[in-house]
Amino acid sequence: MIVLPSPEQVDRRLRQMLATDSVQTGENAVTDRLMLMLTRSCELRCAYCFVGLTEVAYGQPHPGTVEAASADSAPVGDLAPETAKRAIDLLMTSPKPRLAIQLFGGEPTRRWDLVTAIVAHAIGHRGRRGRELALQLTTNGLGFDVGRLDALARWGVTVQLSVDGVGPGNRFRRPHLLPAAEADARWAAAVAALRASGARWFLNVTVPPAAANELPARFADARTLGVPALQLNYATGVPFAGDAAEAYLRGLAVVLEDLAGAPDLRVFNRHPGADPAPLCGDTLCDVDGTLLQIGGVFFEKRFPQLRRLYTHGHVGSAARWEGNRATLGELWRRTKAALPPEDTALFLDGMRLGAASDLVARVVAARA
Ligand code: SF4
Repeated sequence: MIVLPSPEQVDRRLRQMLATDSVQTGENAVTDRLMLMLTRSCELRCAYCFVGLTEVAYGQPHPGTVEAASADSAPVGDLAPETAKRAIDLLMTSPKPRLAIQLFGGEPTRRWDLVTAIVAHAIGHRGRRGRELALQLTTNGLGFDVGRLDALARWGVTVQLSVDGVGPGNRFRRPHLLPAAEADARWAAAVAALRASGARWFLNVTVPPAAANELPARFADARTLGVPALQLNYATGVPFAGDAAEAYLRGLAVVLEDLAGAPDLRVFNRHPGADPAPLCGDTLCDVDGTLLQIGGVFFEKRFPQLRRLYTHGHVGSAARWEGNRATLGELWRRTKAALPPEDTALFLDGMRLGAASDLVARVVAARA
């Protein structure tokens, strides 16, 4: 059993992470990544999801103009194809050698027509200039069929399937538009279809504090389900301190140490360097064309004041990709200045758990 990092080690590591900026999307990263919010509609209402989801105006394109956008409140409606294309055009102005686009929501497959249009515009874009372009779809898997999976495989889109475990492990999902049994049956069918398809995919699992000790069980689920890769996450925006944080870290260490017995399963957490969530460097284009760092959307029901503070511009007025993000250190400075003390402490606890997870991964790797 590994010795967990001390509070002093965690704080030191967090300071380093904030000073270094995002390894994934910071100034020194080789990749620039655009997240696209296709819709604010979703079949589920997960207990830990603080995105401002709504079925109001589902299927209706938001105008996407500077005048119709808001930095203060979550917009309604879906991303218009023209807004998505402008955001992709903007990404293509990046000087970085690698580019990435992540289709996000809400549930992006609820706008499959948009998925198709975005992929076509991005893959054939002249501004790519031969650069590698990684495409990823974050989904709950409820909207899949064989034809869609074939298309994703053909386009080279990596599928990030969010399912929080089999049976009781998935209890934190709250079916909203579907009866519970039907939602369960649909994601199980999605796993089977993904396994049979040629698509690249991985399972994304989030555990809330009440399930902090369930990481080894979720790892066992992944092996039973035959998934090729796994990403384990802790819920953010909720108290995750003390015993819950320790249980999460001990479970993470057990999973990473058990990996030798699961040669066919990649666990992304074994690689240090993730952003210390809830702080994250990625830039998102919202359905109204607002460009903001994703914490402004992830936490809009929990910390609504962050939307304005994390906003950098709008696709209708931005001329280049650069300049539409702040460093992690700057985001933390803005966050601390805006949140009341108890929320600042909660936010900090989350970042400290990210830094501690990074240290655990490093310790396990060093012992391997
Ligand atoms: S499936 Fe995703 S977007 Fe939908 S409620 Fe759950 S976390 Fe939120």
